[in-house]
Amino acid sequence: MPQILDGNRVRDDIMNELKPRVAALAARVRPPGLAVVLAGHDPASEIYVRNKVGACQDLGIRSETLTPPDSISTEELLGMIAQLNARPEVDGILVQLPLPPQVEAKRVVAAVAPAKDVDGLHPCNIGNLVAGLPGPRACTPAGILELLKRYGIRMAGKRAVVVGRSDIVGKPVAFLLLHEHATVTMCHSKTADLAAVCREADILVAAIGRAAMITGEYLAPGVTVIDVGMNRIDNRDEVARIFRNSPRKLAAFDKRGSVLVGDVDPFDVAERAGAYSPVPGGVGPLTIAMLMANTVSSAERRAGAC
Ligand code: NDP
Repeated sequence: MPQILDGNRVRDDIMNELKPRVAALAARVRPPGLAVVLAGHDPASEIYVRNKVGACQDLGIRSETLTPPDSISTEELLGMIAQLNARPEVDGILVQLPLPPQVEAKRVVAAVAPAKDVDGLHPCNIGNLVAGLPGPRACTPAGILELLKRYGIRMAGKRAVVVGRSDIVGKPVAFLLLHEHATVTMCHSKTADLAAVCREADILVAAIGRAAMITGEYLAPGVTVIDVGMNRIDNRDEVARIFRNSPRKLAAFDKRGSVLVGDVDPFDVAERAGAYSPVPGGVGPLTIAMLMANTVSSAERRAGAC
């Protein structure tokens, strides 16, 4: 039986470790402060932000959510970010993506003060990551590393294959694995014979956004699989195909109208992998935990510097 890499358990451990650090800051200086900018009304973003604010409440982090309208311009958002950069009680600034289409997202992300960039997406912090210098790391990749480390998965000397090269997941996780001395291959939509490359992996990270694309032929026996994909399937036939007519999944679909599926075939991975992170309950819960960790670290650094 493969080992399940339980993201909920690791999330709880990380949150419990953060509580005394938040309490110490609150007693010595003030509670850490996170500002979230949620522009417009993207339903998925609204849920993510609600969960982030809830996690702040659980820990005693002071949070505020700014909700500019869909019609906001790049210049107006830059002004808002400048104000947050200047406020001493704001330790972290999170710009919830995607931004409305008329906004130049890269300019907005780059306007956040690097010391307050708790998403780890500012070009300075990407540079810090590549150079192996301290700085906030992107939350989902940082969560993946926590999952691997806390389950004692050896990375040094291992072959790691990352499928997906996004700025948010694929690229940063590849560098984090490299810094742990894995031999890393990055793959993408133009990679030739992807299945053969994936079969070379001791550790396979799938961050693609295609439901159950990674099937048995991509998986060497005993591989550790990290499934980052979060794909909502709203077609019953597709759910039946992916989950082999599982009555439980079909009942869940009939109740909610959709089912969440990772990028990895859930049956094939359970059959072939040595360890894997399930969807849901794997990588997903760790993203918010690492956002909290980045916010607390930022507050500690800034309190030390004051
Ligand atoms: P992007 O769409 O930004 O990137 C997807 C990557 O997958 C691209 O590099 C693309 O290649 C590659 N790709 C697409 N199709 C194929 C293919 N057929 N073969 C090989 N590579 C392919 O996605 P993200 O990185 O933002 O997200 C990936 C997944 O992770 C999504 O399901 C997303 O929902 C999930 N996610 C989950 C998070 C969590 O907290 N658990 C957080 C963030 C994302 P190319 O560059 O050539 O186009």
